[in-house]
Amino acid sequence: MFEKEKLEIIKAGINLDKYGLIALSGGNLSSRMPSGEILVTPSGMIYDDMVPDDILVMDLEGNIIEGIRKPSSDTEAILYVFEKREDLNAVIHTHQPYATAIGLVCDEFKVNLTTLANSAAGNVKVSPYSSPGSIEMGIDTVNYLGDSLAVILAHHGVMTVGTSMKQALYAAIYMEEAAKCYISARSIGDMKEMTEAQVDQAIEIFKYYGQGNGTIPKELLKKV
Ligand code: 13P
Ligand code: ZN
Repeated sequence: MFEKEKLEIIKAGINLDKYGLIALSGGNLSSRMPSGEILVTPSGMIYDDMVPDDILVMDLEGNIIEGIRKPSSDTEAILYVFEKREDLNAVIHTHQPYATAIGLVCDEFKVNLTTLANSAAGNVKVSPYSSPGSIEMGIDTVNYLGDSLAVILAHHGVMTVGTSMKQALYAAIYMEEAAKCYISARSIGDMKEMTEAQVDQAIEIFKYYGQGNGTIPKELLKKV
């Protein structure tokens, strides 16, 4: 059941590792199937070692439909996000160090790079601390997401979301790239900020990024 989607999750998990967003078995990935089932990564397993049968198929109430592994310890939080945000089909949780570091000193990671505008679709809020494994992680994610695609969980990591696994993955990876740049900049001086119009423009332009999404309308590219 859902072999292709399970492989997509494993590949995304391997990418989290490749880009330094998790170490060992940290973080987790989940996605909602069009028929309503939720695929969740198993707890404490290395992504590189996972095979499709390791991925759990669950319902929104937390019942296991298929799979013999113990699901992610954050499953309650993950299911809460899917329950409250019917528009979302993917949730990724990482321990990405640079974005998490920003959450140790700021209440918000403000967009100052096109990469963050593109990936997170807006400023990223830092939620208060909640324990790993608690449903509060999911409640905070829903409360602090707003219209963006990411939340920094204080003293823990990051949650990214998307209508697809690809969107949630891009949010996490580009956000880490932006966080590295932001921290480097802050270490050498005062920050220059993007204007609201520039951020809105970058978000709009990214909707046309990649194959099959049309060509960017010329008027959208004018200097703002
Ligand atoms: P799991 O391996 O149980 O998903 O836990 C990883 C994690 O990051 C907990 O917050
Ligand atoms: Zn975690």
